[in-house]
Amino acid sequence: MHEMSIAMNIVNIACKEAQKEDAKSIASIEIDIGKLSGVMLDSLKFCYDSACKGTLAEGSELLVNELPALARCKTCEHSFEIDSFMALCPECESYEIDILQGRELKLNAVSVN
Ligand SMILES: [Zn+2]
Repeated sequence: MHEMSIAMNIVNIACKEAQKEDAKSIASIEIDIGKLSGVMLDSLKFCYDSACKGTLAEGSELLVNELPALARCKTCEHSFEIDSFMALCPECESYEIDILQGRELKLNAVSVN
């Protein structure tokens, strides 16, 4: 299960951060997830608790910032929100776009006790 390994990865990194600070436990982990990251959020949240078992993060809360996907047209430089990689510019209907945001999957903050 893809989301299980992502959850374990997040917990793993957060635990290393917490250890650096000599924390007894982790209160919450905050992550950024872009709309085009391909991560199933419900599935990730479901896996999170099991990924935390037996670690400093056991009983912690997963806080998710969902980032909308943004693109800019290479032809007319119009910026707009997109739902998929195959989006087209609403201004000039070009497929030549740069994805500015939306593929993120990163640890944002770890709150420790
Ligand atoms: Zn355009």
